[in-house]
Amino acid sequence: MTTKARLLLVVTFMLLGLTAATIINISLNFRDYSINSAIEKSQMAANIVKDGLTAHMVNGIMDKREYFLNKIETSNNVKSLWIARGEGVVKQYGKGLYTENVRDAIDKEVLLSGNSIKKITENADSTILRVTIPYKATAPIGDTNCLTCHNVQKGDTLGIVSMEFDISDMRNSGMMTILKIFGINLLFIVVVLFLINRYVSPYMKLFSNLQDGIKKAYSGDFTHNFETKVGGDAKDVVEQMNSLFSKMQETFGDIKYNLATFIPQGCVSSADPLHEAKTIINELSDIYKFKKTIELDASKDEVYRRIIDILKLKYHVGHFAFYETNNITSERKLIFSTEDKNICFEKTNKDATNCRAYRTNSVTISTEFPNLCQACINENINYVCIPFNINHDISLTVSMTSENIDEVHMMKKNIASIKHYLEAAKPVIESQILMEKLRDTSLRDGMTGLYNRRFLEETIDKIMSQANRNKIGYTIMMIDVDFFKMVNDTYGHDVGDKVIVALSKVLKENIRSADLAIRYGGEEFVVILNNPTDEGAMMVATKIHSEFAALSFDVGHSEKLKKTMSIGMAKFPTDGDTIWKCIKYADTALYVAKSTGRNKIVEFKAEMFQGEDF
Ligand code: GH3
Ligand code: MG
Ligand code: MG
Repeated sequence: MTTKARLLLVVTFMLLGLTAATIINISLNFRDYSINSAIEKSQMAANIVKDGLTAHMVNGIMDKREYFLNKIETSNNVKSLWIARGEGVVKQYGKGLYTENVRDAIDKEVLLSGNSIKKITENADSTILRVTIPYKATAPIGDTNCLTCHNVQKGDTLGIVSMEFDISDMRNSGMMTILKIFGINLLFIVVVLFLINRYVSPYMKLFSNLQDGIKKAYSGDFTHNFETKVGGDAKDVVEQMNSLFSKMQETFGDIKYNLATFIPQGCVSSADPLHEAKTIINELSDIYKFKKTIELDASKDEVYRRIIDILKLKYHVGHFAFYETNNITSERKLIFSTEDKNICFEKTNKDATNCRAYRTNSVTISTEFPNLCQACINENINYVCIPFNINHDISLTVSMTSENIDEVHMMKKNIASIKHYLEAAKPVIESQILMEKLRDTSLRDGMTGLYNRRFLEETIDKIMSQANRNKIGYTIMMIDVDFFKMVNDTYGHDVGDKVIVALSKVLKENIRSADLAIRYGGEEFVVILNNPTDEGAMMVATKIHSEFAALSFDVGHSEKLKKTMSIGMAKFPTDGDTIWKCIKYADTALYVAKSTGRNKIVEFKAEMFQGEDF
């Protein structure tokens, strides 16, 4: 029901209530008034009867009383009038006329009690007022003294006068009055309702117009145009609302436009600019916090861990793997996986172009086509794989998997948002890669690609503490090319360089990933073997020694150059309690090898060291 209809209904009910109250009040008053005036009239008639009868008696014309009584009956709207004699009068004067009898119980009671009785009898057709008044003997009042003629005591009831008045007319005129009042009120109600409808309608229209506009505003639509035909305050309100809404529309348009420049893909698509702005601002704030945090992270791996945390904690991805791919070699490295087993075939790690997402550089969603990516092991699993290019060298891939289709929908929904995080991390990862590169450059020898002496100095403490913690032993080899100076002098530096590079290659090929090969000086190398047996260490040294000796270098003029090396070896912690000491002892053993003919491997013995212990 509309507000206007409700208002009209309430007013109608109120006015009808008022009408009913007025009518009830008037009808009650009117009834009382009608009855009272009939009683008054009956009182007067009774007195006239009484005085008339007294006069008839005094004048000795009591026999003419019937005419008198009939006259009164006809002239006073009296329906019927009769008198009855009391016992004393009957005794003294007889029963009187045949009409002068006690007619009913009321007559009898009034004769007995001497008190008048009034009774109203109402039925559908008429209303009759019955009044019975006692006629009492009085002491001398003026010339009249009842006791002169009647043998009664003063105050005795001589008789009664009974009258019946038809007061139906009064009732009818009362009904007419009520009908008139009702009619007038009804007319009044109609007029009031008409006026209310006429004057309230425009306000109601404005009210519902305001409501419509506010409803739209709730859903972020501020384009509503408020209007009214009413002037004054209502017009002002409409103008103010219109200017407020156009300002809001303009402001939110600006906010949306500006926010869209931060998040260009429009990850949030909502018809509600308020909701959209709130979501984008929350997103921006989260990304900003994320970016500020990773900017202070120490390494690329730490940044990767944060991305993994975001996937787990913000997007609640239950199953996923996170990869880093070398764009140059196409080798893919698994950074993290929630799964024990691989999601993709092993070959994908060796050649990332097997990964559809990486190859096409587009998000790959399994639900889009059956067996979309050939690299996926499990045909029954759903996946959403997001590739993300960091720079020329490195790309990232997030592979989210699920058996639940609802989860896949959720993942699809989050793609743009996840990309925002990757986008935010991109410059940080790039700078971390650059830092790593710089660091690597300063710790590696440019010519051979081996670690340099600085690296050894920086990591020696780490190696030591790891050795002590894990009770690991190391064998240190100090390697030096025999008569190398001669190579430079005879064939030039280029050939010398070739020999150095070839030697480094021999070293790389003969050590394991846990071992270290370091270019210690010009053509001097240190090899640190991780926890080898004595025989194992000697085997590696022998292999390096013989493989290098087997090399022959082309020095032009179809001349071949062959070189040898000397190796000094020391064991940590058997020979010395620090790595530095063992390096020094290996150098001592090398010196012994050089001084005892070169081209040999010499293991350190305590007696070789002449210097002071350090
Ligand atoms: P020894 O058998 O006693 O070791 O004799 P050697 O001639 O090898 O003497 P030493 O080890 O002292 O010679 C080092 C030479 O290595 C000196 C230097 O000219 C040369 N050298 C150092 N670094 C490089 C390099 O990067 N390239 C070339 N071509 N030569 C280098
Ligand atoms: Mg040398
Ligand atoms: Mg040397």
